[in-house]
Amino acid sequence: MKIGFPNHPRKNIIEEIEWIGKNGFDFVDLFLEEDQAVPEKIDVGKLKQLFKNYNLDVVGHTAWYLPIGSPIKFLRETAIKELIRYFEVFNKLGVEFVTIHAHWPGIIFSPKEGVIFQIESLRKLVKEAEKYNLKLMYEPIDTFNDNVENISIILEEIPELFFHLDIGHANLFNRKPEEFIEKFHQKLRHLHLHDNFGKEDLHLPLGCGIINWERLLKILKKYYDGTITLEIFSKDRNNVLMSKEKLKELWQKI
Ligand SMILES: [Zn+2]
Repeated sequence: MKIGFPNHPRKNIIEEIEWIGKNGFDFVDLFLEEDQAVPEKIDVGKLKQLFKNYNLDVVGHTAWYLPIGSPIKFLRETAIKELIRYFEVFNKLGVEFVTIHAHWPGIIFSPKEGVIFQIESLRKLVKEAEKYNLKLMYEPIDTFNDNVENISIILEEIPELFFHLDIGHANLFNRKPEEFIEKFHQKLRHLHLHDNFGKEDLHLPLGCGIINWERLLKILKKYYDGTITLEIFSKDRNNVLMSKEKLKELWQKI
């Protein structure tokens, strides 16, 4: 198991990677997004040197607000075009797996229509990603529509697409994160870990919400031994480092 942390895309990317490297993480979950981590601001050579200096692996991550499921065709096509600009940079950085987020069209359109819009975009995206030697992972977000049923349809329709499980998102709307693990473990390639109380997507440190981490990690460990990102949004990054120790400890114990 490898533990990673994301750079904050609105902060200086060099300083962010240095913090991640200095604090002993195994990899960077590289959030290439507006407004400090956009393709035109990335110094590929400098980043590669940093990854080497700190012995960091890299997993790619794109903006969660790209409208790949919009009812407006022009916006879906624009989202694809925008993503391709990022694929180029990930390829130059030697990244293999990149996250694309779910996107839903809003209440006038049904979830089934949202599934269709996303499948259309994702089919095009996996083909484009191939040209850059990238594999795409689908990360469900924090809406009611991000349930096992809808995700199953999308993953079944696109065999080349992998699964990225965000445990915090999978804990909302009375869902059970373990159900997602049991159902999709064959396609699972990456995880985001954070806690909440089952109502809002709070991105809390481990143990600060209602998730039973010991029970959950025991199930996860049966199927998975890959990259795990602590996607904890806390001003005090000591909370992140405490979560890192807690995760390591639990993983060994279970
Ligand atoms: Zn996430």
